[in-house]
Amino acid sequence: MSATVSFQGIGASPGVAIGHAYVLDARRVRTPKVKLTRAEIEGEVLRFKTSIELSDRQLEELKTKLSAEGQAEHGMILEAHRMMLHDPMFLVEVTRLIKEEFINAEWAVRRVGKRLRHQFDNLEDEYFRERKSDIEFVADRLVRNLMGEVVDQEIEVPPHAIICAHDISPADAAMLVRSGSVGAFVTDLGGHTSHTAIVARAREVPAVVGLGKACESIRAGDMVAVDGRRGLVLVNPTEEQLALFRETMRRQMQSEQLALKTAELPAVTSDGVRIRLNGNMEFPEEIPSLLAHGAEGIGLYRTEFLFLNRAAPPTEEEHFESYKQVLQAMGDRPVTIRTLDLGGDKVPGKKPDKEINPAMGLRAIRYCLAHRELFRVQLRALLRASAFGNLRVMFPLVSSISELREARSELEACRSELSRQGITMGKRFPIGIMVETPSAAWIADRLAQEADFFSIGTNDLIQYSLAIDRQNRDVAYLYRPLHLAILRSLEAIIKAAKAANIPVAMCGEMAGDAALTIVLLALGLEEFSMTSGQIPMVKNVIRQMSRADAEVLLEKAMAFSSAEEIERFIKGEVDRRFNSGEVMGATVPSTTPATTTKG
Ligand code: PEP
Ligand code: MG
Repeated sequence: MSATVSFQGIGASPGVAIGHAYVLDARRVRTPKVKLTRAEIEGEVLRFKTSIELSDRQLEELKTKLSAEGQAEHGMILEAHRMMLHDPMFLVEVTRLIKEEFINAEWAVRRVGKRLRHQFDNLEDEYFRERKSDIEFVADRLVRNLMGEVVDQEIEVPPHAIICAHDISPADAAMLVRSGSVGAFVTDLGGHTSHTAIVARAREVPAVVGLGKACESIRAGDMVAVDGRRGLVLVNPTEEQLALFRETMRRQMQSEQLALKTAELPAVTSDGVRIRLNGNMEFPEEIPSLLAHGAEGIGLYRTEFLFLNRAAPPTEEEHFESYKQVLQAMGDRPVTIRTLDLGGDKVPGKKPDKEINPAMGLRAIRYCLAHRELFRVQLRALLRASAFGNLRVMFPLVSSISELREARSELEACRSELSRQGITMGKRFPIGIMVETPSAAWIADRLAQEADFFSIGTNDLIQYSLAIDRQNRDVAYLYRPLHLAILRSLEAIIKAAKAANIPVAMCGEMAGDAALTIVLLALGLEEFSMTSGQIPMVKNVIRQMSRADAEVLLEKAMAFSSAEEIERFIKGEVDRRFNSGEVMGATVPSTTPATTTKG
C-alpha cells in the first residue's frame, strides 16, 4: 500500500467523506498566438463576436438545464459569467487588441483576462479576490469555442468519488453534483468563498480547498479521506485513520437523521422557553436547505453578495428581484435583510484609496451613508420588496445613535419618494440594527429606544472588543467568545433590549455553536440565527436543557476571571450533559468564525 500523506487546506464545506480519487484534468487549453494581416482583422473581430454569442448560449442552456433539475444554486454564478462576457470593457479591450496589435482573438482574450485577473489580485477581501478564477473560466470557455473544442461535456464519475482538481469551474461543479456521485471536492486553489465552496455548501457536499499543490501528487484511484470541517485531506490513510473517519461519518449520518427528524419540532427548553431558530444566508439558493433543516425565518441575509462577479453595482431592479425571491420563498416567515456591509476593499470595479485599517474604516453603514446614491438604490428596492413578505431591515456596524437616525431618515426619504411616484410598497416594517461594536453595546439602552430590534453580530463584536483582527491567523488564538468581556457585553445588550421591550437576536457564528448554546440560553437570548447545518445540533441542545439550569451554570462560569477557566468549566458541563458526539463541532476552546465576509 502507498504511503499516507496528509494535507491541510481550508475547510470550505463541512462533512466527512472517504472514496477513491477522481482526478479532474482541468488543464487549460493551449492558446494559439497568431499575428494577423490587416485583411484578416474584420474576420477575426467577427469570429470573436460569434464566440461570445456561442458562449452566452451555452451558459444560458446550462443554467436552464440545471434549474430544471433543481440545481438553481449555480444559476447566479453562471449568470455572472454571462455578464462578464458582455462586460463592455472586456469587449472593447479584446477588439482593440485585435485591431491595433493585429493578434488573433484567442491571444487577445487571454491577454485581457490576465490583466483583469491582476486587478483582482490586489484586493484585500478574499471573496472578491476569489472572483478572478471566474474570469479565467470565462476566458477559457471563449478560447475553447474559438478553437472549436467541445465544452460542457458530461463527466461521469464513479459513486462516492473524491473529485481532486487544481480548480473546478462552476459548469464542471454543476455537472458533477448533478450526477449525485460526488463524495467530496478537493482543490488546490480557492478559498471559503470560491464557487466550488459555495456550490459544495449549497449541496451539502464536503469540500476542502486552497490545498496548494496537493492535487498534483494525488493519483487517480488513490484512497482519499476528507474532513471538510477541519480542512484535512488524507491520501492513502492507514486502517486506524480510516476507522476514525468512518466513525465520524457514522455520527454525521446520525446527526443528519436527527436533523430531518427534528426539523419540524419546536426549539423549546425543558422548562418551556420557546426559542426561535433562524437561518443566515448569502444566496437565495440556500433557502431550500435552510427550510429542510428547520429554519423558522431568515435572521441574516448578507446582501453585499449581490456584488458577486461584477464591476458595476447591481441595479435597483436586480436588488428588488433578489429580495422578492427570498421573501416569496419564505412565505409569511420573517426575513431579516441587512443593508450592504461593503467598504474597505469590498468595493469591486473601482479601486478605493488604500485604507491602513479597513476593519475600522469606511465600511457598512458608514460606507452607505457616505455613498447615498448606492444606499438609496438598495433602500428603494427593499421598500418595494416589502410588499411580498414579512420583511425586517437592519443596518450593520452602527456605532452611534446619529448613524441610526440618519439611516432611518434616508429610508423614510425613499419611502416618500416612492409614494410620490405612486410605486407599490408593503406596510411599514421593523427597522433594526446589528449590535457589533463596543460603542453600540455600551449605549444599547439608548439605541433600544430608537431601533425596532437588535441582532448581535458576535464576529465583529468580538473582533472590536478584544482588539483582534478576525482575518489574522496569528491572533486567532485570542478569539474567545467566552472572554468575560464578551459575556458582560452580551448580558448588557440583551438586558437593554428586554428593558425596552424590543426583540434581540444573535446572528454571529457564536449563535450556531452548539457548545455555547447553554451560555446564550442563560443570557436570555431567545432568537438565534445560523447556517443550515448548525440548526439541528443547536436545537438538540435547547430541547434537552432547562433555562433555569443554564442560568445557574452561567453564574458559576462568570465567577471565573480568565477565558480559559470559563471555557474549561463550560466544556466540562457540556460534556457531562451531552455525549461528545451530540454536540459535534463544539468550539470550546474557541475558534475564529468561519464567515464569508470580512469584518
Ligand atoms: C457578525 O459580525 O457577527 C456578523 C454576523 O456579520 P459579518 O460576519 O457579516 O460581519
Ligand atoms: Mg459583522
